[in-house]
Amino acid sequence: MKIKPKNNLFCWLVSKRFPEAKNSDVFITWGDTCYSDVPLTRDLIVHESLHTEQQINKLYGLWWWLKYMISAKFRFEQELECYKAQYKWAVKHYKMDRNQKSKALTKVALALSGTLYQNVVSFEEARKLLKNGN
Ligand SMILES: [Zn+2]
Repeated sequence: MKIKPKNNLFCWLVSKRFPEAKNSDVFITWGDTCYSDVPLTRDLIVHESLHTEQQINKLYGLWWWLKYMISAKFRFEQELECYKAQYKWAVKHYKMDRNQKSKALTKVALALSGTLYQNVVSFEEARKLLKNGN
């Protein structure tokens, strides 16, 4: 996966639909490239790499993005897959006790249920789905 700065037309267009995408802690992935202005942690690389797999390439990625912008259900399904993988990876690779795992789960559930994705799922439901894995 390539990582490039967010200062391009594609990211500008995405931020018209998702205003929070302008924030530095929000990354935009299109095709094989992740657009970010800050370094990504390893668990975020897992998340964004999975988006590159979902999108296959830049051309299919355009279709993916169109669907992602229009359908809350599609957006939710795609993000759930990535947050599950991200959380699972973090639990396996970062040394965390029960309390830290719980905090990490809350963090990903808050992200998935947050305003960035425009409320595709409740926090409680997101936490339950992410906790159960797979
Ligand atoms: Zn994502």
